[in-house]
Amino acid sequence: VLTHATIAHITAEPVSCDLQAKGAIAIDMGKIAWCGGMIELPDAYRNWPTENLEDRLVTPALIDCHSHIVFGGNRASEFEMRLEGASYQEISRAGGGIVSTVKATRAASEEALLADALTRVDALIREGVATLEIKSGYGLDVETELKMLRVARRIGQVRNIHVRTSFLGAHTVPPEYSGRGDDYLDQVCIPALRLAAEAGLADAVDGFCEDIAFSPAQIALVFDVARQIGLPVKLHAEQLSNLGGAKLAAQYGALSADHLEYLDEDGVQVMAEENMIAVLLPGAFYTLRETQLPPIDLFRKYRVPMAVATDCNPGSSPLASLLIAMNMACTLFRLTPDEALAGVTVNAARALGIAGRGNIAPGMQADLAIWNAAHPSELSYRIGFNCLHRRIWSGT
Ligand SMILES: [Zn+2]
Repeated sequence: VLTHATIAHITAEPVSCDLQAKGAIAIDMGKIAWCGGMIELPDAYRNWPTENLEDRLVTPALIDCHSHIVFGGNRASEFEMRLEGASYQEISRAGGGIVSTVKATRAASEEALLADALTRVDALIREGVATLEIKSGYGLDVETELKMLRVARRIGQVRNIHVRTSFLGAHTVPPEYSGRGDDYLDQVCIPALRLAAEAGLADAVDGFCEDIAFSPAQIALVFDVARQIGLPVKLHAEQLSNLGGAKLAAQYGALSADHLEYLDEDGVQVMAEENMIAVLLPGAFYTLRETQLPPIDLFRKYRVPMAVATDCNPGSSPLASLLIAMNMACTLFRLTPDEALAGVTVNAARALGIAGRGNIAPGMQADLAIWNAAHPSELSYRIGFNCLHRRIWSGT
């Protein structure tokens, strides 16, 4: 039994966060058995072992619902080139861009990919993250896509973290299929998806719908297969232009559409009707120095729940801090700190289609974050300061 806790109860739509002072949380077999005020603690728990939290804030453990955290190499030299004024084309000619990550990921052993990813995963764990979504999408050949997903699964085995995987074969067209996106989908992406599903390596199917990646019609080919094999879908949509990706995703009952800077009101309405989650990725917005803001007021107006994630990846969002993503969501997108917290807990769980995580209530998994803080706004307010006291994963 955790005692003297300041418990954050988060409700979604509209978001609010109610604090309960002098709270207690009883944990049994990895789950929350009871929570409420200390004085109301049922007699049954009164002689259980206790831990006095000295009025610290307790939130659900954090959930990062969108990451590309498994990849080979890094793109620091490209970062430098960009700062020296190199254009996208010049970087591309020098072997940079996503192609360089694909090359490095293909060349890396499973062990090397795992060891490298764990350095970033551990940074998230230190911030109280207990559930992490990980995408494939830097292999773009059958074997490497499966290798990435195996590494993602292994992360969940070697660390105390709940991992959800997304197959992202439709990330970009690899150089060997340049100008032949349909052939790539037909010969590589879809066969790899079927194999990943057979091997139990994919929990969901994702795609990148953009001029520089795949058209809505091409994404539909992949989503048709996802539907056949019974996997939920989600989509990188409306990041750089409005191609109607979120609407397409809605037709497939998608869990979420992600990025969404260029989404229009029509698209927001469709997302609301289909109960989709809007996943906001301020790290990419920041890194790319974008200026088009996602339609936050429209998400509020139509009650589309918003999640916030790191989008941790080597190119557009080399961010391994969910706390900084929360700060960026507030400062850049004007989310309230309560919305940011809901975005990395209850709404992030919904974006992953998982029940039983993301809130503090009886029956939920006892994944908790205990902070050296008095109020949830402190989590979003500080930059580069981690006030986690202790993380509880499945009750311990
Ligand atoms: Zn992404």
